[in-house]
Amino acid sequence: MPRIFLDNHSTTPVDPRVLEAMLPYFSEHFGNAASRSHEYGWDANNAVQASRESIAALVGATSSKEIVFTSGATESNNLALKGVLESSDPARNRVIVSAIEHKSVLDTAAHLHAKGFQVTTLPVNALGRVDPERLREALTDDTALVSVMLANNEIGTVQPIFEIASVVHERGALLHVDAAQGLGSLDFNVEGMNVDLASLSAHKIYGPKGCGALYVRSKRPRVRLSPQIHGGGHELGLRSGTLNVPAIVGFARACELMQKEGAVERVRIASLRDALETRLLRALPQIVVNGDPMNRLCGNCNVIFPNIESGTLIRNLGDVAVSSGSACSSATPEPSYVLRALGISTAMARCSLRFGVGRFNTQAEIEVVAERVVDEVERLGNLH
Ligand code: PMP
Repeated sequence: MPRIFLDNHSTTPVDPRVLEAMLPYFSEHFGNAASRSHEYGWDANNAVQASRESIAALVGATSSKEIVFTSGATESNNLALKGVLESSDPARNRVIVSAIEHKSVLDTAAHLHAKGFQVTTLPVNALGRVDPERLREALTDDTALVSVMLANNEIGTVQPIFEIASVVHERGALLHVDAAQGLGSLDFNVEGMNVDLASLSAHKIYGPKGCGALYVRSKRPRVRLSPQIHGGGHELGLRSGTLNVPAIVGFARACELMQKEGAVERVRIASLRDALETRLLRALPQIVVNGDPMNRLCGNCNVIFPNIESGTLIRNLGDVAVSSGSACSSATPEPSYVLRALGISTAMARCSLRFGVGRFNTQAEIEVVAERVVDEVERLGNLH
């Protein structure tokens, strides 16, 4: 049986059209975008500036100057949290994060706490949603920044960002949104949603790995950040280092494709996901689907198979690539902290599987996977 990739939250394959756009920037257009004295540099810089426009357009930024290139959403999250807290008025020394943020937000908050900043962790409800009213209660006058993700990478729950933004702004704080998951799968607009900072990652939208951006609002209000990587003063001094031009060009092409095709694609992906979920639920009525059925990423299906540890099931699925949760934490045997934050028991959380349907999955693959999972769950269940 050929391998089937159904782990599109961990990463996505590079779209061939993205690769095609990138290739010339490894060869004939290899210049350093910061070189000002010759055409090699100008060509690279022109490509970077055009890329900035495409990325700004996908997220609805008013100016391409608001896009700061980074190595990915991990770095963007670090820059957003440390950058805002370190440059804030000392009377505002608190960051509020939701309990189900990605580790690159939670660990950065923990680092800030160790440095003397205040951190509040906001609980989520059983579906994984942040309640704007609870956030209102948690917000204090010493809060500089609130960080809530657009959509969760394990359970796919989409947050009410617009409502959260109004609560945050009432108290004069800034809102950072980790949009690594969700970009492309739903309409994300920094102006429409009143977001102040947003982390983006190319490899989640069929672009290359190791490339991302931080959207930083330049007006109403102008967000101030202290840089975390010092050097030649690239990216308006916010992030030094020679730009990865081929990856940036690929990121931009991925954004253009998403802007053109995303709306249609979502419908197809959701129907494949629904087909998978329906087949699993019909054959295995004991399973539990996690997350918020009304506010969920189109390709996400996170399921608990009671009494069957995810590691065992994953091994038995062989050539079907799925995961038990976040790839970034898959080295640790701990059950998912995201599922635990929803109130799910440790024992149940150990039995969860995350399916992530993406652009290149087919109906035939979904049928094969559904059949394989049902067979394996029935077989493993009989061993008990
Ligand atoms: N935030 C979220 C929600 C993610 O899913 C990921 C990737 N797993 C990241 C941040 C980190 O992104 P990157 O791989 O670009 O560093």
